[in-house]
Amino acid sequence: MFKRVLIANRGEIAVRVIRACQELGVETVAVYSTADADSLHVQLATRAVCVGPARAAESYLNLPALLTAATESGCDAVHPGYGFLSENAEFADLCAKCGLTFIGPSGDIIRQMGNKSAARALMQAHQVPVVPGSDGPVPDAQTALDLAGTIGYPVLLKASAGGGGRGMRRVDAPEDLERLFHEAKSEAEACFGNGELYLEKLILNPRHIEFQILADTQGHVIHLGERDCSIQRKNQKLVEESPSKALTPELREAMGAAAVAAAKAAGYVNAGTIEFVLDQEGHFYFIEMNTRIQVEHPVTELVSGLDLVKEQLRIAAGLPLSVEQDEVVLRGHAIECRINAEDFRHGFRPCPGRTGFLHLPGGPGVRVDTLLYNGYEVSPFYDSLVAKLIVHAPTRLETIRRMRRALAELVIEGYPTTADFAHLLLHHPDFVRGQYDTGFLAGHMDEILSWDCGGASN
Ligand code: ADP
Ligand code: ADP
Ligand code: MG
Repeated sequence: MFKRVLIANRGEIAVRVIRACQELGVETVAVYSTADADSLHVQLATRAVCVGPARAAESYLNLPALLTAATESGCDAVHPGYGFLSENAEFADLCAKCGLTFIGPSGDIIRQMGNKSAARALMQAHQVPVVPGSDGPVPDAQTALDLAGTIGYPVLLKASAGGGGRGMRRVDAPEDLERLFHEAKSEAEACFGNGELYLEKLILNPRHIEFQILADTQGHVIHLGERDCSIQRKNQKLVEESPSKALTPELREAMGAAAVAAAKAAGYVNAGTIEFVLDQEGHFYFIEMNTRIQVEHPVTELVSGLDLVKEQLRIAAGLPLSVEQDEVVLRGHAIECRINAEDFRHGFRPCPGRTGFLHLPGGPGVRVDTLLYNGYEVSPFYDSLVAKLIVHAPTRLETIRRMRRALAELVIEGYPTTADFAHLLLHHPDFVRGQYDTGFLAGHMDEILSWDCGGASN
């Protein structure tokens, strides 16, 4: 096992990684920007190094500063968390060059799967079903127009380098295509420094079903079941659960096998996620692989009883997976609500501020992963995710009741959060029935907002 790990991240995921390291007896080196000097991850780590000013480009994305911090503090490994440099192939390569173990797949695998259009092609070559669409990137709007005519509208223009729901445009009619092509391209250039687009048929109101994969250096590849992440706003996940109401045991087995085949096709090593969309007829299609730990990984931890971050460290250290596929037992049900410092009454606009009174829920089956403490100032520079509330119970209904109870206990004063929104959502009859898809929130937002009495801002 490693002696000392640099955590190239911030927020709740840095805290999560520190906790795993501590339990394994591994020392941690946190990095922070000047805006994060008072952060929880800085206080919990064995030691901490400032890597630059508030702007992420100059701190959390600053390759030389991070590598220098790692080597000078005597680290032997680097955990990238999610977001930031977690899917940056160059960073993985540079870590290796500096003699640091990158806790994730190799730069080559990240590169291969990070280009979503190329990943599609690889999956097709290995008989993993993909959404009907372009063979590779579409160079210009005319090519996209011709192809969309053959595939049939609506279609989705997607950035090859995309992530976080950005660089995507739904096109409903040919006359809109050229304009939306240029919009998607500029957004992709601005967000990812790469304007390459590809095209997929838009599956109408699918479920987003993803499979958690673990793969070690000895060639073992297993899956830990699915997460249903269909509660999305603007292609971004808000609530996730496992198991999915939409899967029969047969479908779960078929999708799990496809996910393992996909990871094997990629020569994958470490923890990863295979994302699928599932249409209303029960056909599933690969959409992308995330080559990192995922925000919603605790959902899988609660149903599997495994610690995914510890598994990541074990794999990176060259140890075999701690379980084989037939030893994986998925028990009960888990739901996660992402608590963002956002005002859902006003278009979910980010609302950073100073944390006032804070009370976190507890009791049986309740887990909170958060960067918050009393008095903590939420920074406007970074993601608005301030906490993840994850609950576990034997059945789905008990899990929903437990989540409602936990949300009712949660108090975060100082700024509005999405906790009240989650509470309303968990009372929606269709959510309770498990009848929802990725179009659900957009279609029910006004209804859910109409249940709200306004009042308190948190
Ligand atoms: P998950 O699939 O784990 O739910 P998300 O797609 O929501 O992940 O992204 C996780 C985090 O990483 C978010 O904070 C998101 O803003 C960020 N992120 C995702 N993709 C990128 C990217 N290509 N570049 C920068 N940040 C990204
Ligand atoms: P990102 O890299 O931004 O996470 P994804 O390719 O995973 O992008 O897509 C994000 C979300 O957009 C998915 O979770 C799903 O809700 C929706 N989506 C993506 N591709 C399709 C498609 N072909 N048809 C319908 N919805 C899609
Ligand atoms: Mg995705």
